[in-house]
Amino acid sequence: MQLLRRGSTGSAVADVRAVLAGLGLLANSDSRAEAVFDEATELAVRHFQQTRGLSVDGIVGVETYAALSGARWRLGDRVLLHNPASRLVGDDVAALQLQLLELGYNCGRDDHLFGAVTETALRNFQRDFGLRVDGVCGPATLRALKQLARRVVGGRPQGLREMVAVASSGPNLPGKRVVIDPGHGGEDLGVVHAELNESAIVWDLATRLEGRLQAVGVTTWLTRGPQNSRTDEQRADFANEVGADLLVSLHVDGAPSDRPHGVASYYYGSAGSISWVGDRLADLAQREIVARTGMLNARSHPKTWSLLRLTRMPAVRIDVGYLSSPIDRSMLADPIFRDTVAEGLLIAVQRLYLPAESDPPTGVMRIPIGA
Ligand SMILES: [Zn+2]
Repeated sequence: MQLLRRGSTGSAVADVRAVLAGLGLLANSDSRAEAVFDEATELAVRHFQQTRGLSVDGIVGVETYAALSGARWRLGDRVLLHNPASRLVGDDVAALQLQLLELGYNCGRDDHLFGAVTETALRNFQRDFGLRVDGVCGPATLRALKQLARRVVGGRPQGLREMVAVASSGPNLPGKRVVIDPGHGGEDLGVVHAELNESAIVWDLATRLEGRLQAVGVTTWLTRGPQNSRTDEQRADFANEVGADLLVSLHVDGAPSDRPHGVASYYYGSAGSISWVGDRLADLAQREIVARTGMLNARSHPKTWSLLRLTRMPAVRIDVGYLSSPIDRSMLADPIFRDTVAEGLLIAVQRLYLPAESDPPTGVMRIPIGA
């Protein structure tokens, strides 16, 4: 799609303004013919992005457009059901998912997408509460949910379920399943600076991490080959299909100025739910990389990006420095640095599965190969 930004005009801008007005972020929308992406629109888009955990740039690209399209739906506006040919997406689906999660029904996370997992959770709810078990969220089901909502105070069962899965799978790495995602690929080089590009750097990092994980008995997959590219949705689907325990996505960042630098990590977190294990793994990865490389710690942050939202296992994305920064660039160009990052990530994965009482200090742990 064409990016919509300050100065854009036309019917797509009118649609965006109408949704923002409907959300109360913009004064009443104008006639379609005169729609202009003005300063007020940009501010409203920034506000929307901020509250949705999207990148805040005031520009309507693919992710923001999808979030805006879904935002026009309130729970009860339409009948919700699983249609594999054209899956329903929207805030109403997320509201239903959050209610099911609050009630202890496993519909994954509030990914805004009515798929098979949500349908199963809804059927289980309907069966337990004596409703017709059809997997369709119509008036009767909505009434039942409304009555229950007042009585249930949240315990975030999905966050708990993730933690229990990690704890019960034990500390041993052999048998664990990890999908490694080298962000970008094929035509899409990601951030480019002179002869260095993100796609090649993260491919190299990914294969180094793959080698380390395999050496200690972890089953691994890469989301792409050395030359090809896939969308974030396809990468998430792939990780779901192979039934991974974790997904680690690797990127490097870039900025218009050469000043920003450091390593940052991201995990799934929305206003309604958070991946507790993703949060923990992001934090461990940050600490291990910073302790081992001396990179600036740009901390870990919750985001609702598709890759983090659509994966059903804990997922983290790590932006290992800025290619636009001379400090980070000289590190990224060095194979020894890349080895150190891969080692830090391996240790972060191991620490995730260690019980708290045996947790060693950051930056010093080693895993003997063949353990
Ligand atoms: Zn990237």
